[in-house]
Amino acid sequence: MNDECLICAKHASRGPLAGCPVIEEDDLVVVTHRPVDAATGLGIAGHAFVETRRHVAHWPGLTAAETDAVARAAGRVARALAAEFGTDLVMSLIAGMSVPHFHQHVFVRHPGTPEDLPWFRSSEWSGAPQLTASELAALAERLAPR
Ligand SMILES: [Zn+2]
Repeated sequence: MNDECLICAKHASRGPLAGCPVIEEDDLVVVTHRPVDAATGLGIAGHAFVETRRHVAHWPGLTAAETDAVARAAGRVARALAAEFGTDLVMSLIAGMSVPHFHQHVFVRHPGTPEDLPWFRSSEWSGAPQLTASELAALAERLAPR
């Protein structure tokens, strides 16, 4: 736990990211869906984050158990996103340049996304489905492991 960290605060239900719909969580990882935009009250559907429970900045700092847990969770949520949105084009990205707490983006490239939109900006397409907070919460429940 790092008091300055947005993701640690989110895991403790505090700070600006509190209330992100939780898809699954255990002792090692927390998987959430991107929240609604505060300005519009809508969020683009199909963008999940796989985060380590422990505060660790970057990928090389993960333990072997955390690496395995992240990989399993990313695979599960990718399969759930593919089934939900009817596409196998599920992208993933690990960067950690702006928020130094390990998080892996896992996101759909929705059918119809313009070809000239770069893959890593797939979830920024304005034509992607946009959901309210309660719709995103219901989506997170559908994406949860059964
Ligand atoms: Zn943290």
